[in-house]
Amino acid sequence: MARTDALVLGAGIVGVSIALHLAKRGLSVALVERAGLGEQTSYGNAGVIEGNTIFPPAFPSDPAALLRIALKRAGEANYHLSFLPQVAPWLLAFRAASQPERLAETARLIRPLFSRAVAEHELLMAESGATRYLRKTGWLKVYRNEKSFAALTREFDLADKFGLPLQALNTEQALGLEPSLNPVFPKAVFWTEAASISNPLAVTRAYAQRFTALGGVTVVGDALTLHRADGRWRVETNEGALDAGQCVVALGPWAPDLLDRLGVKLPLGIKRGYHRHFRALGNAALSRPVLDADAGYLITPMEQGIRITTGAEFASRDAKPTPVQFDRLMPKIHELFPVGERADDKTWLGSRPCFPDSRPVIGHAPSLPGLWLAIGHAHWGLTLGPATGRLIAEMMTGAAPFCDPSPYRAERFS
Ligand SMILES: Cc1cc2nc3c(=O)[nH]c(=O)nc-3n(C[C@H](O)[C@H](O)[C@H](O)COP(=O)(O)OP(=O)(O)OC[C@H]3O[C@@H](n4cnc5c(N)ncnc54)[C@H](O)[C@@H]3O)c2cc1C
Repeated sequence: MARTDALVLGAGIVGVSIALHLAKRGLSVALVERAGLGEQTSYGNAGVIEGNTIFPPAFPSDPAALLRIALKRAGEANYHLSFLPQVAPWLLAFRAASQPERLAETARLIRPLFSRAVAEHELLMAESGATRYLRKTGWLKVYRNEKSFAALTREFDLADKFGLPLQALNTEQALGLEPSLNPVFPKAVFWTEAASISNPLAVTRAYAQRFTALGGVTVVGDALTLHRADGRWRVETNEGALDAGQCVVALGPWAPDLLDRLGVKLPLGIKRGYHRHFRALGNAALSRPVLDADAGYLITPMEQGIRITTGAEFASRDAKPTPVQFDRLMPKIHELFPVGERADDKTWLGSRPCFPDSRPVIGHAPSLPGLWLAIGHAHWGLTLGPATGRLIAEMMTGAAPFCDPSPYRAERFS
């Protein structure tokens, strides 16, 4: 049986960033993963580093939008009927957190983390040799509907208050940025300081290599074997048992599998999402991610091709994939951008781990000494991985945290 200072369970972007930050502070760290590094949720996302996020996605307030979703006609969302009784309490809590004053409060509480998102990636990228994957070309959101653009006033006001630059554009100005788009939208917003990544898997792997170079150890093991032994945390791995005084759970959507066993009850839900890769027709190209806001999908240039990601699907994490949103979205996608043939033969499915208040949990596990949680990064795990790694490493080593961690405490649910 070997001993380390800290165990990190789960090697997605969140776990890898934490392990790297702990190793940078001189701790001996074992990163425990049962599959490949960064190959789950952290692989298939849209690659946006949303340092500019203001409001989290909200429960729809427009009855027409709700009806479209209920009738399974919406591109932005889907659900499995059989899953609704199970997810109903989470949806009610999500709806309550989507009231305007709660959204404004969330915007304020998540800002310190988001404001460090791009900078913390840049620091890790510089030391990991991964800067070539970073595009500091902003994020373009296009609006087909004047009404939905007009509804952005509150967001613009808060952006101004937070000092976040944005440009409200007409069609022509947006086409100046992305000439391959078709003019099917009257309005757009260019978030100039958002960034994106051309290959999320490569970035996670680069951070993991840097972790190894600093003396960190990556082992294959099952986090569900975690238990208390002699006042420490112990996990079984292919290399044998590993013990540590401190352990971080960074299991993304799988966190409840372990936490339920340990008696930690937290309302972690999931929003499933899909992606497909396409070739662009002719010379068509994109320089940045583009959100087709009213249609509810994101189109983003990746090394693998043009990646299109879908919005939320409410279904059991392990239920069979049902990528019906693509059937609803394809006509809209063809209207906006000249996509050609598929560049992959399988539709990817991932599960965003989400708390109803859209804030992650970063901090101590209630009543379990030495156990830490870094879960529930929802739509922003890629964005917030490095900032989370820094924050939790500072807390674990007794350093002054770079921001107040209290909004991310698990105890807010008790
Ligand atoms: C369609 C889609 C688009 C998205 N777009 C964006 C975006 O543009 N920008 C953004 O910031 N975020 C985006 N996200 C969200 C982001 O991908 C997630 O928030 C993030 O990947 C979560 O990272 P994680 O490390 O917490 O989880 P994961 O990447 O899932 O990592 C958890 C790890 O734990 C491991 N594990 C699970 N169980 C065990 C076990 N028993 N033993 C050992 N290991 C185990 C898994 O194998 C996995 O590697 C998107 C998500 C989706 C689905």
